[in-house]
Amino acid sequence: MSFSHMQIEELLDESRKHLCEGYGRERVCVNIAAVGDLPSRFGEFHVVAFYNNRDDQEHAAFVHGDVCDSEDVPVRVHSECLTGDAIGSLRCDCRDQLEASLNEIGNGEKGVLLYLRQEGRGIGFVNKIRAYGLQDHGLDTVEANVALGFRDDEREYSVAAHMLDSLRVRSIKLMTNNPRKIDDLTQHGIKINERLPLVIPPNDSNRFYLETKAAKSGHLIDFSGKERLVEQGDRPIVEGATPEQIAALHEG
Ligand SMILES: [Zn+2]
Repeated sequence: MSFSHMQIEELLDESRKHLCEGYGRERVCVNIAAVGDLPSRFGEFHVVAFYNNRDDQEHAAFVHGDVCDSEDVPVRVHSECLTGDAIGSLRCDCRDQLEASLNEIGNGEKGVLLYLRQEGRGIGFVNKIRAYGLQDHGLDTVEANVALGFRDDEREYSVAAHMLDSLRVRSIKLMTNNPRKIDDLTQHGIKINERLPLVIPPNDSNRFYLETKAAKSGHLIDFSGKERLVEQGDRPIVEGATPEQIAALHEG
């Protein structure tokens, strides 16, 4: 089990009393609104629903094990992807990343998956599908976003930082291939002690998308396609490589 009844009461109590000035440029305050048990195919979790004082986005945390006042908690920050997470789209690797991280967290001693309702790298569902339409005509992910007037990545992680603080997580090991996420969370006061790479082999439909992520957005992605697991420990595959080097890796 994750939280004790007493911890849940405490967390809810703190949230009720305490609406802060908010985090990030939007000054978002996300407080814990409700907590429930969530047995899942990935193990025993608690689901934590967050109240949001700025927009109507209802974010969620899935908590396994004792994470309150805990150090080195494995954390995955996942942005919602309706087509990938729910439908199993092969245009992206979202569902693979979601399942790999839930497996890893569920099988471990403790961990948190934050599920952020920022669809399509933060541009929203309708715009994401517009971008798909453009990509069907030959643009890559980044070009399509730019053509629609968005930056390559509109996601922002102040909400995630706030959620971790509300859960009273002290320090984390971040499961990610995205160096920007590390910088962004660090800027918002999260102590990251280690990076846990997520290794997921590309398929024929998402290979171009993943290569674009690596080449244009600086993601650290392994293209060997040999392993289907989350690597534990600090064993980065292409850490420190430039986007050009990463691109060259799988051209050869
Ligand atoms: Zn996706």
